[in-house]
Amino acid sequence: MRILTKKIYRAYPELDKFDDEACKRFITRAKQRHGAWKGNAFLAFILVASFILWIPLAVLFIYLGKTLTQTLGYSGGLQMLYMLAIFTGMGWFPAICFLLARDRLLHLSIRKQLSQALCSKCGYSLLGLKVIDQDGQQAVQCPECGQTITLKDLDLSQEDLDPNLVTSS
Ligand SMILES: [Zn+2]
Repeated sequence: MRILTKKIYRAYPELDKFDDEACKRFITRAKQRHGAWKGNAFLAFILVASFILWIPLAVLFIYLGKTLTQTLGYSGGLQMLYMLAIFTGMGWFPAICFLLARDRLLHLSIRKQLSQALCSKCGYSLLGLKVIDQDGQQAVQCPECGQTITLKDLDLSQEDLDPNLVTSS
């Protein structure tokens, strides 16, 4: 599982043809299109919920720790570390939950954005294709099956196919 280490967009071969900057713009676009505010509300909920959830978890861990200490006779140093981990947990536990949830949301919006830019006939990715004029409408021609598809039919705009056109706002 990726936790802030790898570049998230490199998990998608459809984005291989774009450089890092374009991929970041692609993600900006994906977030813009697929309910950014809903995502933020969800993340705020996760943060609060995981903070509250930590209370019964901490109680459980303290109880388990006491039992373990009694049966195994742990040293004082270890016990201190254990308790420290539990008490700082109200910080790191929500933080980890938040990062994982944010990751999931990002993947969801990237996948939505990618799946919208597919050829309606053969499913080939239309990302990065040159936009042509088809009877006054913006369109692309699928290099795989030759189908011409108007962007309107896919509910896409030019920025959805060419991330370099996305303005970050
Ligand atoms: Zn096609």
